[in-house]
Amino acid sequence: MTKPQDIDWTARAATLRCDGRWLLDGQRRTAEAHFDKHSPVDGRLLGAVARGAAAEVQAAVLSGRAAFDDGRWAQQPPGQRKRVLLRWAELLLAAREELALLECLDMGKPVRNAWQVDVPGAVRCLQWTAEAIDKVYGELAPTGPGALALVQREPMGVVGAIVPWNYPLLMAMWKLAPALACGNSVVLKPSEKSPFSALRLADLAHEAGLPPGVLNVVPGYGAEAGEALALHPDVDAIGFTGSTATGRRMLQYAGQSNLKRVYNELGGKSAFIVFADCADPVRAAKACAGAMFFNSGQSCNAPSRLLVQQGLPDAFFEALLECARRFRPGDPLRWDTAMGPLVDAGQQQRVMRYIESGRSEGARLLIGGGGSGCAVEATVFDAVQPGMTIAREEIFGPVLSVLHFADEAQALQIANDSPYGLQAAVWTEGLSRAHRVARGLRAGTVHVNQYDDDDMTVPFGGYRQSGNGRDKSLHAFDKVTELKTTWIRIDPRDD
Ligand code: NAD
Repeated sequence: MTKPQDIDWTARAATLRCDGRWLLDGQRRTAEAHFDKHSPVDGRLLGAVARGAAAEVQAAVLSGRAAFDDGRWAQQPPGQRKRVLLRWAELLLAAREELALLECLDMGKPVRNAWQVDVPGAVRCLQWTAEAIDKVYGELAPTGPGALALVQREPMGVVGAIVPWNYPLLMAMWKLAPALACGNSVVLKPSEKSPFSALRLADLAHEAGLPPGVLNVVPGYGAEAGEALALHPDVDAIGFTGSTATGRRMLQYAGQSNLKRVYNELGGKSAFIVFADCADPVRAAKACAGAMFFNSGQSCNAPSRLLVQQGLPDAFFEALLECARRFRPGDPLRWDTAMGPLVDAGQQQRVMRYIESGRSEGARLLIGGGGSGCAVEATVFDAVQPGMTIAREEIFGPVLSVLHFADEAQALQIANDSPYGLQAAVWTEGLSRAHRVARGLRAGTVHVNQYDDDDMTVPFGGYRQSGNGRDKSLHAFDKVTELKTTWIRIDPRDD
């Protein structure tokens, strides 16, 4: 088998087929309306994508409800559902090359990252979740001898999943795996900026034996397909990943319709705090730059605020800039490219406006600041003040803000002075300080002396306006199930 680094990805890309038809009852279908999807890599037309709207959403929800009600999936024993999901994972792995290419061409990430991170990450999520599903027990309450109270989790019914474009496969799978494993039907709405891999994912699910109707995919615009799904009165829950502004709407849609459960995974402005007693400042600098510029900075947990204590050695800043320089925008179809373009020209212009605001508000540009087409250079601003726009707003591009602090109290104050609370990091050799700061940080995940360790075994989600959901780990099951108590009277004489 050809090693991935030896594949001619450009040649493969030329023959790649992108099927943008929507998926209902296990079949691809042509929608009434379409839009053209172009690649940010070179502007090529990838294909026509179904522009789903209220009619498609209605059909998808009805189909999902019918599948749920007749029990074709929900009533299968967990071990049987597990077998189908594990088979699906095998098919995804077999399609690794195609999926990596779809991801690369659709949203611009380096094919190497898609191959090494996105596809195996989605497979691991599916396998882990599938393996867990026949090992999760209900509870027996500590009642008196005359009664029995069972506390069980039941699937919710029809779950709507609305996902973004930055990790299209992975974000879709974080929603799909627990929802399907628990027996729900799912209607998936991928981002209009990256619809192809989600559709392909669903083809493979059916090949693996998922019954038709259990997973329907309606691509389209947020204000059309997304809104129709989130407002639908027969959708029981929405798993949403995206911006905080859209997450706010999800709660409104629920309020306007059927009070469906809403689990939001939203934006971030994560703080990466480095104290002067950090044992390995060079490693800290590389960890920060690596996590910041990976995926062109389009990661919700990008450590976009670097908080440094006075007294850090020059080597720290040298390593930071050296690592940042390695993320030079290039052709994402080349195996040695570390950073691709942003998802589209609109996102590029948005990021360039933030760079301009950093300049005009008085931050000091250390490197980068330029961009053309859909690309933006890895950019580092120093002397950023907490009140500046680039320190407060999520940029979602390769722009790092460096802020300086004097002591622990000030570091915590700056770090927590944000509407977001997704992730944070503290780098120090002081054991007590590490614990104190980790406790003090208002974030869903805190890293100590590292940043990017991540795994299916731990929940992913935020505090505050970073959302209320938790993807991954067994906690994800809580979000796609209802808790049912069943009281059984065993001995009436005990009344
Ligand atoms: P977005 O909110 O614009 O779109 C996300 C999804 O919502 C898309 O499918 C879109 O079509 C849909 N949508 C948009 N407007 C809608 C509306 N009015 N009604 C219904 N659906 C609508 O976000 P994005 O730009 O695609 O993604 C970037 C954002 O996602 C960033 O803020 C990032 O931080 C966040 N994100 C969070 C996590 C997490 O786990 N916390 C993970 C990845 C991305």
